[in-house]
Amino acid sequence: MPGGGYDLDEIRRRADLVEIISPHVALRKAGRRLGGLCPFHQERTPSFTVDPEKGVWHCFGCKAGGDVFTFVEMMEKVTFAEAAELLARRYGVQPRAPDGGARQHHRERLLALHEQAAEFYQEWLGQQSARSARAYLKQRGLGEQALRDFGLGYAPEGWDALLNAMARRGYSAQELATAGLAIARDDGGHYDRFRERIIFPIRDASGRVIAFGGRAMRDDQPPKYLNSPETPLFQKGRVLYAFDRARKAMDAAERAIIVEGYLDAIACHEAGFIETVATMGTALTQDHVEMLRRRVSHLVLSFDADSAGMAAALRGRELFQNAELTVRVVTLPEKTDPDELIHAQGREAFGALVEAAVPMVEWELSRILARGRNLEEGERVEVFREAVVALARVPPGVEREYYTRWLAQAWAPGDAGHTASMEAAIREESGRLATRRQTGDRRTADVPLRGTAHTSDSARRPVDHVEAGLLATFLGHGELVAEYLRPLEPEDFTEEGDRSVFVALRGLVERGEPVTSQAVMSVLGPATRAHLAQLLMQETPTERVQETMERGVNRLIERRLSQRYQRLLRREVGPGAEQEALQRELKECAEQLTRLLGQRVVGEK
Ligand SMILES: [Zn+2]
Repeated sequence: MPGGGYDLDEIRRRADLVEIISPHVALRKAGRRLGGLCPFHQERTPSFTVDPEKGVWHCFGCKAGGDVFTFVEMMEKVTFAEAAELLARRYGVQPRAPDGGARQHHRERLLALHEQAAEFYQEWLGQQSARSARAYLKQRGLGEQALRDFGLGYAPEGWDALLNAMARRGYSAQELATAGLAIARDDGGHYDRFRERIIFPIRDASGRVIAFGGRAMRDDQPPKYLNSPETPLFQKGRVLYAFDRARKAMDAAERAIIVEGYLDAIACHEAGFIETVATMGTALTQDHVEMLRRRVSHLVLSFDADSAGMAAALRGRELFQNAELTVRVVTLPEKTDPDELIHAQGREAFGALVEAAVPMVEWELSRILARGRNLEEGERVEVFREAVVALARVPPGVEREYYTRWLAQAWAPGDAGHTASMEAAIREESGRLATRRQTGDRRTADVPLRGTAHTSDSARRPVDHVEAGLLATFLGHGELVAEYLRPLEPEDFTEEGDRSVFVALRGLVERGEPVTSQAVMSVLGPATRAHLAQLLMQETPTERVQETMERGVNRLIERRLSQRYQRLLRREVGPGAEQEALQRELKECAEQLTRLLGQRVVGEK
């Protein structure tokens, strides 16, 4: 849960934004604000601004911004929950007591249980009965150090070894079932989930054991890999194996290497590629991408070329694009994984392949083309079409242009004339496919999907300035908001960030809560907090405030009505009753517009 059970408002009240920022930025007073050089981008003239009164900061250069939590998140590269915990500790805020307390206690107990279970499994790996497990690990090239570093263990055979051991330490079978370590029988009894398996403890970002993965020791013991189920501690779409050990190294390496298995991750770490993490039988999820994006801007995928994980990564390309991550793909020799390669050919060999990794688009196109190499002309055309379809998924721009040439040359090398006409054909076809995709997308979304947290001011259209100006005025004069905001709809705000801020404001008004920038901040997600901070930095009128609000509200309604009017004009209807209904609607819309615009007469036709 966000904030890990702390009273966030209490933390916000006690935390001193300037005190938190000062060690990182030499702040100078500028009016009631403070300014300095932004710690998040390179600059010579200060565009980093802090407003201690409102408790927000914003950089006019790189558009980063938010409140005290956001600053700690970005500076320490931690999650929101971790930032809250850091601040709570620093300012002496205790975890929430009554109801939150029970949940917190439950969680702590589950964590303690996992820790004890990990110890239990680790001890078993040293036992006589784990002989073949140790032999297997040795054969896979894992030394004593690796076993200790990653806390590997062994689940013995039998049905209740863990249940009995944990019962002696005061844990009920029910608790083990909740933790995913035991499974309930129909008769009400329980049995151990992991039996006769090599155990890999799975840890959260701060290194606490939250789940286990178990590898079968025998071939007649499916599945080969068995993980803990989803539990209150473990959602596999949000956890990357070895992330706790890799996170620091990612900063230095400025990249993350992603592999698919426990043994691959361990082999990479032991070989010095400490920036490596592994997915655990799932595709990379949006949460995974988010975890990585906080630390690096380059990902290197070292997946099995034919795996479901790789296919999913190709399909999920937009996930990477949206996160502004560049993704390269390592080409491993067929039927080899990183673990085998490192042990057979050494770390240098793997390092060389990582350095030779190619951008995802190139990797995909190469693989498609390779299939066409030995085919008849007719089948080759199909393969070529597939390549053009893949290319059309790259957004228009330098990259697509580059790969258009690349593809033409790869397909028709040597012959300059042929290559040029090929290039033109690819450009036209991929452009056509891409346009079709976009119109397809647009049909599903009423609201124009433009602008994310990264939208720069200059990219805003004039009417967005009206939106932003109005919201800034609302935020500066919270006491007037309830009176003016009611006629507006979320759809009146075309910019995504603006829309989220509006929805937050409306929520406060509807609940009858006071409208303050802090109250709005506390209900927004991290990306939108930066947007809010930017709005709060705008100068807002101190005179004729009501007039300004009214004008802004009217401009937005005017836009809504005239868009509706245009839509009605374009609507095709049959004769008779339908035609009359349309005319009535048009008239009504025109009248509303006319009222709004004063004397101007609209819609006489
Ligand atoms: Zn900046």
